[in-house]
Amino acid sequence: MPALFTILGSGSSGNCAYLETDDTRLLIDAGLSARQIRQRLLGIGRTPENLSGILITHEHTDHIQGLAVLAARLHLPVFCNRLTKEAIELQFPEARFDFRLFTTGTSFDLGDLSVDTFSVPHDAYDPVGFLVRTAAGNVGVLTDLGHATRLVIERVRASHVLVLESNHDVRMLQDDTKRPWATKQRILSRHGHLSNEAAAQVAGEILSAELQHLFLGHLSSDCNTPALARRVVAEHLAQRGGTHVAVQAASPNVPLPTLILGATRAAATAAPME
Ligand SMILES: [Zn+2]
Ligand SMILES: [Zn+2]
Repeated sequence: MPALFTILGSGSSGNCAYLETDDTRLLIDAGLSARQIRQRLLGIGRTPENLSGILITHEHTDHIQGLAVLAARLHLPVFCNRLTKEAIELQFPEARFDFRLFTTGTSFDLGDLSVDTFSVPHDAYDPVGFLVRTAAGNVGVLTDLGHATRLVIERVRASHVLVLESNHDVRMLQDDTKRPWATKQRILSRHGHLSNEAAAQVAGEILSAELQHLFLGHLSSDCNTPALARRVVAEHLAQRGGTHVAVQAASPNVPLPTLILGATRAAATAAPME
């Protein structure tokens, strides 16, 4: 059966995606307000009450700001590693969560899904990326990283769908007058965020015949534009023979249309028989 994947929102201000299979309904990060997450789920005919759980990449506000209201009130399982759990508890001392801990680098089953976890270089306690394996295809989530290690690239290479950070245009960031020098240094560092050019290089290295959809996420609203990020990455992929990959930039303000995984592959398999 197909799986459904919707980026409910992604940007420096907030990140949240929804993945649904026959048995399992997951959020990946809860970095919008609980109210926004509820509204955007309702927009695709879903409710938070029916979630199976929430996967958390790391404890930065733009990944967990809706977590306390959503997960604690609805008693939803929260899947994260121990250091991230401790950081979440510090941020929401009043909330009671149902944590399900994983060890970074391991895989675990969740309903009819399996989730691979891997470490990413970013300035949080123990930040991770995910490769979520479904019967309809694999979804990789790779946001919030200063640079891509060999390990990271190997771990998401099996993605059919990949959410990849494309945070900033380096020149727009350097010219930005709002951010102090130290903040710019943090963003540009090896534990900060990927620029459009860096995202293009990473996408080129991950490129495979199986990769069908590339969602650019975590765009800075001041130091990037969706059109620029998309152009830089799509042009690089085209140079490397990746014209089969559909590249889209996500927005923090509006969900992207739901992607039906498995449907296109089934259609492609069926086509020659007609
Ligand atoms: Zn972060
Ligand atoms: Zn972030």
